[in-house]
Amino acid sequence: MQKGKINVTGEDIFPIIKKFLYSDHEIFLRELISNAVDATQKLKILASKGEYKEELGDLTIRVHIDKKKKTITISDSGIGMSGAEVEKYINQIAFSGAEEFMEKYKDDTNAIIGHFGLGFYSSFMVSEKVEIKTKSYTDAKAVKWECDGSPSFILEETEKETRGTDIILHIDKDSKEFLEDSKINELLNKYCKFLPVEIAFGKVQEWKKDKYVDTDKDKIINNPNPAWTKKPADLKDEDYKNFYRELYPLTFDEPLFNIHLNVDYPFNLTGILYFPKFKSNLEIQKNKIQLYQRQVFVTDSVEGIVPEFLTLLHGVLDSPDIPLNVSRSYLQSDNNVKKISSHITKKVADRLIEIFTNEREDLEKKWNDLKVFIEYGILSDEKFQEKAMKFFLLNNTEGKYFTFDEYKELVKPNQTDKDNSVIYLYTNDREGQFSFIEEAKQKGYDVLIMDGQLDSHFINHIESKMPGIRFTRVDSDVIDKLVVKEDGFESKLTIEDEENLRPVFQSQVPDEMSYLVTFEALSETSNPTMITQNEFMRRMKDMSKMGGDAGYYGQLPDSYNLVINSNHNLILNLKNKMHDSVGKEIETINKELDTLQADSDALKKLQEGKKEEEIGQEEKDKSEELSKKINELKNKKTEILKTYGKEEKLVKQLIDLGLLANNMLKGESLSKFVKRSLELIEK
Ligand code: ADP
Repeated sequence: MQKGKINVTGEDIFPIIKKFLYSDHEIFLRELISNAVDATQKLKILASKGEYKEELGDLTIRVHIDKKKKTITISDSGIGMSGAEVEKYINQIAFSGAEEFMEKYKDDTNAIIGHFGLGFYSSFMVSEKVEIKTKSYTDAKAVKWECDGSPSFILEETEKETRGTDIILHIDKDSKEFLEDSKINELLNKYCKFLPVEIAFGKVQEWKKDKYVDTDKDKIINNPNPAWTKKPADLKDEDYKNFYRELYPLTFDEPLFNIHLNVDYPFNLTGILYFPKFKSNLEIQKNKIQLYQRQVFVTDSVEGIVPEFLTLLHGVLDSPDIPLNVSRSYLQSDNNVKKISSHITKKVADRLIEIFTNEREDLEKKWNDLKVFIEYGILSDEKFQEKAMKFFLLNNTEGKYFTFDEYKELVKPNQTDKDNSVIYLYTNDREGQFSFIEEAKQKGYDVLIMDGQLDSHFINHIESKMPGIRFTRVDSDVIDKLVVKEDGFESKLTIEDEENLRPVFQSQVPDEMSYLVTFEALSETSNPTMITQNEFMRRMKDMSKMGGDAGYYGQLPDSYNLVINSNHNLILNLKNKMHDSVGKEIETINKELDTLQADSDALKKLQEGKKEEEIGQEEKDKSEELSKKINELKNKKTEILKTYGKEEKLVKQLIDLGLLANNMLKGESLSKFVKRSLELIEK
């Protein structure tokens, strides 16, 4: 028997391990089982090289809990260790500047473990005593090592029949949770689900009479040959779907597509990535990718390791070049990790191009579930954008899909405006903008659907990247103004008519502050009234809203145009009615105004070229009085017109029709409209 001290510089290394590594105690199991897997793999290699000639036998790694003795035992049938090897690998832990490093990384368990190769010693995080019983694959005698957490240990020869290593953890009082089957099951499932050697924990159960009882068959908790380790050629679509279910037993949607990564130069990387159905809440879908190093689970938070938009993908990545036990910041700056990241972006884009080229119909079918992801990629990653613009699909209200190139060809002949911009008309609300869409279609225009959550950002982005095209929402102007090709129709209203009609309509808009009455000379068959919302103002407001703060534009009220078609018969009729009713009054006022205006103009002419002090007081008073009178008369005129407008049912009816076409007539206004319609029809 040999007694000795573990070779560490800091006497009190174990308290430090316990204290600083507190938050991540559970990783002890991963570390010990990884060691057991390594020992087993090494033996297989020796056997394959002919250096080990005995039977390999059952290589299953077994985890066993003894609740009475309060122990967890991890047994393998791997290469084992001789006494000299225990001395070398277990006793000599090379610590340099240990305490300093601990202080610096005290919140980052993995960094500490990785730095010191503390794998085995992590067992002391949960144990008051640890025993190793090991028998080497060589002829060396079996040995037993024992350590109670102080730097002293015992190493002695022992009896052990079988090759391999048993690690026996005497679980300490504070770590009792690890003696529960359910806890160990949970950890095995998290860290060991795809380890390459079979791991047994407990027994397969069987229903006997009235309860489940253990059979003598080991329960294997892992799948040693997960799909990503196989060749793509050996896998069918169904296998990929099954593996998705294996990874996410609680997700019921099927993935849309998958990518099988299989790289061996300039770095090693395997994995399967899935495009899930992208839901409206992107956040909950992030960080589902699991990162493995040779089938050992490392982490499932890959942000910083893959580009932001790719964190929306699901699946696994496995690379021996990804350091297992290092801190996140180290991982992010690691050169291999960076290369892997840009490689994955490229692979994802290439796979989408492949799907687009070979399975376009399928892509179109799944496009709506995929679009937000691709837009995210285009918005956030220049390299991805370059490729994605080739397969990005625009879809129109007819349910057809086009690439940007195809779409330009389609609409260029009919939707190029006089400044040579191709106008892409779109709707973000098919129901609400129905009448606008219909009108546009009648005019031979095509309308795109842009109702996704990233679409408004995307539209801005595309316009900045593709100068020849401009997006215009279908309700942002009257039909003839959406694509301005040349000057429009002659107006049948004079400027004076318009000036008179403006207050008439103004008196009845839903809100005087937010509605501006404008006149457009449109075709006689266009609607008499329309509500439009300026594209620029609306976008600015949308952007402010998205940015979270209201901003300058965000604070403005919504503003609409009430557009009056000055060539529509109903408007001309209304003009005549107005004339019959208040025409005389208006004419008298106008005459008075004319005389006053003439006086005022004459006076102004006299004063022209004179300096302020050269004008006499009398003259000044006169000017002032004139403009006061003019204002009063103008106000009076407006009042007369407004009073008329308020009483004329046709005015309200015309405005309501405009609102109705925009889905903006609701509640009380709507029921009033219905009532008024009936009255008007009955007349
Ligand atoms: P690491 O695994 O990072 O090398 P560990 O402290 O976990 O660090 O283990 C140190 C060494 O002890 C291993 O490299 C291996 O040589 C030996 N060892 C640990 N566990 C076993 C085992 N179950 N069977 C055989 N050798 C082992």
